[in-house]
Amino acid sequence: MSDAIKELKEKLLYKRVKTYEVMSEADMAASDEYAKGYMAFLDGGKTERECVSYAITMVEKEGYREYKIGDKIEVGGKYYYNNRGRAIYIFRIGTENVEEGIRISASHIDSPRLDLKPHPLYEDNGIGYLKTHYYGGVKKYQWVATPLALHGTVVKADGTSVDIIIGEDDNDPVFYISDLLPHLAKDQMAKNAREVIPGEKLNLMAGSIPLPEAGGDGVKLALMKLLNEKYGIVEADFISAELEVVPAFKAREIGLDRSLVGAYGHDDRVCSYPAITALLESEGSAHTVMAILADKEEVGSGGNSGMKSGIFIDIIDEIAKNLGANVNAVKANSKCLSADVNAAYDPCYPEVHEKNNACTLNGGVVLTKYTGSGGKGSTNDANAEFVGFVRAIFDKEGIVWQTGELGKVDQGGGGTVAVYISEKNIDVVDLGVPVLSMHAPYECIAKTDLYMTHKAFLAFNVN
Ligand code: MN
Ligand code: MN
Repeated sequence: MSDAIKELKEKLLYKRVKTYEVMSEADMAASDEYAKGYMAFLDGGKTERECVSYAITMVEKEGYREYKIGDKIEVGGKYYYNNRGRAIYIFRIGTENVEEGIRISASHIDSPRLDLKPHPLYEDNGIGYLKTHYYGGVKKYQWVATPLALHGTVVKADGTSVDIIIGEDDNDPVFYISDLLPHLAKDQMAKNAREVIPGEKLNLMAGSIPLPEAGGDGVKLALMKLLNEKYGIVEADFISAELEVVPAFKAREIGLDRSLVGAYGHDDRVCSYPAITALLESEGSAHTVMAILADKEEVGSGGNSGMKSGIFIDIIDEIAKNLGANVNAVKANSKCLSADVNAAYDPCYPEVHEKNNACTLNGGVVLTKYTGSGGKGSTNDANAEFVGFVRAIFDKEGIVWQTGELGKVDQGGGGTVAVYISEKNIDVVDLGVPVLSMHAPYECIAKTDLYMTHKAFLAFNVN
């Protein structure tokens, strides 16, 4: 190849880069260290509520204090708004005029799981069960014959509440959903994967020894007695409870080189954690900066803790009012990263990806211009100008980044919170970490992508 052609190639053609090709040894070590903090976050936060508590501990250490609607907001102030313990808005007021806009990173902390029903407890043929209703996009067959933990909050009749975590401590028992043995699965194995495990068979085994002389429902009574002794709850209290069944696994390094991380709930805690760390690290920024950890994304962002809730705009409204700014100007000039994951190219399933436009593990933080399905249905397709703005920042700051598309055209699709934020007249683009086996009980990410995501959010906050 002549030098002229080489030069032309260099100048005109896009080149994919891997993180490890450009990261220094010190960068790689920093990335490894950063992943440790993230893995602790994952183990400490397996539900929305636990993630909110964990986030509060992180930011209070750095001087953030709880804000309630109506409180005073001042330049330089560091606040968090705790929305019903299930979502959190963490924000710092910058020195520049807030009408210049807010830099927002919006992630979600709900993950696919099984929720207990309001009347979960029953017994059948000597086994005590807890009935569940699955939450979000799960492949139901992945949740059977595997150790499960129960996490949540029960509000009792007197209004007091009790938090429950069973199945995380090594000395705890776990829960279990049975599956058919292959020997008797002739009919099951012939079924469509969607129907292999019907939703009403996702029943959690909780015990098998009845109370003596109880007559009927002896196992159920025995289980309720154990719960009452430990947590002071009665059966009716399940009605006012949020009890979530999650995999009883801890986050672990994957691979001999420890370059990957396996865990439950990467989607989307793998973006929530960097949103917090980038907010804390961007202390010197003149911009007003906000990190959002939202609930309900996996079920359409509804409810009063989802991103469609009016509380988001109420908070922006309160910020503007307190600083004597025009709220419409604040929104018009605000910029948001919808901090969410994308599907990493899976070499074992190349047929679902279009490889020129798929993101890869160790390809860096992934920018997703549009999501949606069936011809970009229900997408926020970020405008070219905003994508150009973000791209310029990343290139300037040496961020290793790539683009991604959620699978081949017409292969499926999905959405994020981006569309609900863009509706408010705020520029938004999706940015996050490539994930393998998304929505599985144990998902996989690369440490360097996680680290680049932190650096990307940080660059966005300070530029
Ligand atoms: Mn997500
Ligand atoms: Mn998801």
